[in-house]
Amino acid sequence: MDATKALVELQEHDLALARLNRQLDEMPEKRAILAARGKLAELKALQARSETALSAADSLVRRGEDELRTLNERIKAEQDKLLSGAVKSPKELQAISMELDSLKRRADALEADTLSKMEKREASAGQSVKIAAAIATGEGTEARLTDRFRQLGGTLLTSIDAENRAREALLSGLPADLRARYEQIRSSRHGITVGVLKEGMCSACRVGLPAGKVEELVNGPDVGVCPNCNRLLIVRGL
Ligand SMILES: [Zn+2]
Repeated sequence: MDATKALVELQEHDLALARLNRQLDEMPEKRAILAARGKLAELKALQARSETALSAADSLVRRGEDELRTLNERIKAEQDKLLSGAVKSPKELQAISMELDSLKRRADALEADTLSKMEKREASAGQSVKIAAAIATGEGTEARLTDRFRQLGGTLLTSIDAENRAREALLSGLPADLRARYEQIRSSRHGITVGVLKEGMCSACRVGLPAGKVEELVNGPDVGVCPNCNRLLIVRGL
């Protein structure tokens, strides 16, 4: 194929590629997946905080229960002493009875305190269960969206693949210097790379060129460079 025709075709494939990639980027599923992932990340951070709170609540409850057990053992020991009949002195019996009263008051207060800590732990555990359920739902949504994106995007990806193969084939048929110039202009312009000289005008930048420049181009090779926009300029051969 002529280099000039190859350049024009190459540009068509590159414009198609740009359009397909834009379509892929703008798929609503892609944005929805990003939103779902952002929400999941928030939920997981919340889950980590909730687990820390739950384990702190857990250890407070356990400590309360341990203290309560110790207190109850002491109460039991004092009661046993009182009931054993071994203590006869009224003064000593009164002291034990007072000690028992004091221990029971402490046990009552501790029990109430531990109960309220248990309630907090239950609330914390309930919160953790809710967060885990929200994460499971979020992961399901993300998986469904990803599947859908793969299905819908699959058609686009197949077209992108075909366009890429076509452009590679055309590029490899171009002389090395033209290939390098095309790729260099393409990377800096992100769009139209090639213009055609028509009636003294570059079709890419649509600027009429001075007669002297047009004459230089006409007397030069089939593919020149536009003196205005620096794109490749096809002078003849189409
Ligand atoms: Zn131009």
